[in-house]
Amino acid sequence: MTDFKDNPHYELFLKQQANQLKVGQTTHNQRVKKLNALRRAIEITYRDQIIEAMRKDLGKPKVETELTEVYPIIGDIKHAVKYLHRWMRKQKVKTPLSMLGASSYFIHESKGVCLIISPWNFPFNLTFGPLVSAIAAGNTVIIKPSEMTPNASALMAKIVREVFSEDEVALVEGEVEVSTQLLKLPFNHIFFTGSPNVGKIVMNAASKNLTSITLELGGKSPVIIDETANIDAAAKKIMWGKFLNTGQICVAPDYVLVDESIKQQFVNACKKWLSYYYRDRPKTSKSYGRIVTQKHFERLKSHIENAKDLSATIIVGGISDAKDKYIEPTLISDLKDEATILQEEIFGPILPILTYSKLDEAINYINTKERPLALYIYSKSKSNTNAIITNTRAGGTCINNNIIHYANHHLPFGGVNNSGIGKSHGFFGFEAFSNKRAVVKQHTIGASEFMFPPYGRVKEKIARLTIKWF
Ligand code: NAD
Repeated sequence: MTDFKDNPHYELFLKQQANQLKVGQTTHNQRVKKLNALRRAIEITYRDQIIEAMRKDLGKPKVETELTEVYPIIGDIKHAVKYLHRWMRKQKVKTPLSMLGASSYFIHESKGVCLIISPWNFPFNLTFGPLVSAIAAGNTVIIKPSEMTPNASALMAKIVREVFSEDEVALVEGEVEVSTQLLKLPFNHIFFTGSPNVGKIVMNAASKNLTSITLELGGKSPVIIDETANIDAAAKKIMWGKFLNTGQICVAPDYVLVDESIKQQFVNACKKWLSYYYRDRPKTSKSYGRIVTQKHFERLKSHIENAKDLSATIIVGGISDAKDKYIEPTLISDLKDEATILQEEIFGPILPILTYSKLDEAINYINTKERPLALYIYSKSKSNTNAIITNTRAGGTCINNNIIHYANHHLPFGGVNNSGIGKSHGFFGFEAFSNKRAVVKQHTIGASEFMFPPYGRVKEKIARLTIKWF
């Protein structure tokens, strides 16, 4: 057996391991109490500090922080509190006739000691969201938030210390090395949100202990706008969805594929909505944020330079200011296939606009790439919409909108293959942090006992009849 003695986080892990069954045995009411304590901390005690931390880390406007950090967590908690009783109930299932004399059910039991690793783009939402599911399912949790948003991480550490005891929920701050050490420990579940590349590292580490995983990853989420779409409404929603959080969203539209016959109208509508949203001055607008770090700024700037070098057309924007980590909302067209912006997830305020002449071309283009986290369709045509959905694979889809599928707690959220493994939100998050334990209870002599050895001709006959009839 592996010796974890020298691991700097082993002592904390052992504390939680010693406590995990007790936490797993908590009642519905006890879990609701914990969730409500977290809710009070976020909604009341620390709300202003959350807004301030987001302003410092990401230049995030107050309204955006309220809507994309505070509200989703409160929504997660309210939803869990409302349905937890149902989720925790034992689920009776049928028992086949061949098992006569027995009854069957399954329960959702806690997995045990869980690790949550979260990214920087919505630090509160993407740390406390999974935490709500983990608590609802009765687990103990160690959290490792991103080092890129230090104000958010320090505040989350304070909230966790205040609301929970360390043997139940603990938060460890630090750089990649902290993640690396934590990932060596034999957790019962790891819930990771971040990039596909680091997702592979997490999956590899989890395999050493055969730890189950949920990977909420990213990638390139396409938008198709067909010739029947309401162009103005599409532009209005895409300009919001793309430039919210300065494009640093896993489900942000990554690139647009628009029918060539309506491209110009679409571009005009995009310009109109951009100028309305940011009053023609995004740099001084209170509604527009900044890039998280200098390194991320340089990456995005180099995408623009690369596109320019390849003679692409900058329709809008392209201007940046390194000191301020500012990149103007940018629309680019006439891109060559080899442009880096078409190869990597953009994760910033740059939108490539590509065209197609037949819908199949757009579908084939998407299918040459990794399976996306989200695929958006703007169309009034049922047959086009069906053709797109049935001929592609994606984690989620909005028809005539973008991003909002994330906000419905009744839907599973997550990717497929390169964009993720497993689902989160609402019941699906509770499920991710639970083990489905199957239970069969024998009430009377079981039919199977007639088939115990020694075997003879009669039992052979019964076996044949069982295969045929039961
Ligand atoms: P990231 O993968 O770089 O980092 C995520 C977390 O992993 C951080 O806590 C970081 O400290 C840790 N980490 C980084 N390198 C590591 C390593 N080598 N070993 C172990 N841990 C490591 O991602 P990010 O830059 O924070 O976030 C952006 C990515 O996350 C994008 O790809 C985006 O699409 C994705 N994302 C997905 C979702 C979703 O719900 N599917 C949500 C937000 C972001």
